[in-house]
Amino acid sequence: MDFRDDVNLDSSQVEDVGGSGGGGGGGGGFPGGMVVGGGGIVTLIVLVIVFVVNNLGGGGGEQQPAVQRSPSDLSQQCRTGKDADQTEKCRVVGVVNSIQDYWKSEASDYRVAKTVLYSGSVRTACGAADSAVGPFYCPGDQRVYLDLSFFDQLQSQFGAKGGPFAQAYVIAHEYGHHVQNLLGALKEGNSVGTELQADCYAGVWAKHAVDTGFYEKPFTDAEIAEALDAAAAVGDDRIQQRTQGRVDPDSFTHGSSKQRVAALTRGYQTGDPAKCAQADLR
Ligand SMILES: [Zn+2]
Repeated sequence: MDFRDDVNLDSSQVEDVGGSGGGGGGGGGFPGGMVVGGGGIVTLIVLVIVFVVNNLGGGGGEQQPAVQRSPSDLSQQCRTGKDADQTEKCRVVGVVNSIQDYWKSEASDYRVAKTVLYSGSVRTACGAADSAVGPFYCPGDQRVYLDLSFFDQLQSQFGAKGGPFAQAYVIAHEYGHHVQNLLGALKEGNSVGTELQADCYAGVWAKHAVDTGFYEKPFTDAEIAEALDAAAAVGDDRIQQRTQGRVDPDSFTHGSSKQRVAALTRGYQTGDPAKCAQADLR
């Protein structure tokens, strides 16, 4: 996943707000956890329910140490593709730029959405969020929120092999929710169909990524395999098996491993967002 050394990055699409810890930000916590709609969030994973309950439950839960990390000015650090090849934050900038370039070329009325990098907790238009929820998209402020520590968790907690392309898939999935929001497709709720469509959209971007001019060459089979592996790792059945010891398909919110891999593959093979109709993915 090499970026072209001389390509200019648009660092204004990513903001690094650091981490104040912030004590979880006043009342309320998550509005409705996984529920989309009014101001809800859309995530990559279902594990969030477990964590949110733990975190908001108050009693007995261990207080996480406040994460102190200063904001950083990415415009100074992330100027070209060379920077994107060297540091994780700049790679996020490159991935975000490429994803949005693709969607701009696909839809003339596409509106650029920022990714906010944070540590620990963050305040959003959808409420205060804790990094335990994983990456998410907030329709209320049209931003993608990402704590980079999730990329480690993807390996340590979800058992994915990880890698830069697995990370790119995660980001592309969240931008899939932004596209859905612009299209008005987020309204019906956080259904499995919504999540699978976001996976499919991620695959569509992957197919066209080299056309955006950010990458040296098309992704290799091994890179695509990284993304498929990550998609399988965050399937509801795999997560339930590990966290509850059993699988309950009725409670799926994001789709099974098999469904997620199939949706991503469909997007990648067709390269056509029109082929990502929710009804065809379930
Ligand atoms: Zn999602």
